[in-house]
Amino acid sequence: MCNCIKETEERIKAKLSENNPKYKDKTIKQVTISNAALMFLDEGKTRTELYSPTNITYEFFNKNDELKTKKEIVNMSYSYCPFCGVKYD
Ligand SMILES: [Zn+2]
Repeated sequence: MCNCIKETEERIKAKLSENNPKYKDKTIKQVTISNAALMFLDEGKTRTELYSPTNITYEFFNKNDELKTKKEIVNMSYSYCPFCGVKYD
């Protein structure tokens, strides 16, 4: 099991703190990658995984036979870590 999300957040924080002129006179307190979910695994273990909100648009006929369009968002999870490529168990 990898710890890429936390490690990447720490690397971003360090890089921005030392190199980026925007943060030259500021203290970065925290860097958090969005779209990360805490997953509950077997044996009480947890892991944080990224997911991508995915827009779905579909058409259907309602009971009055009118064509309707609806949109919804579903969260797509990954089988492999997008940072290091290790398979999520
Ligand atoms: Zn990883």
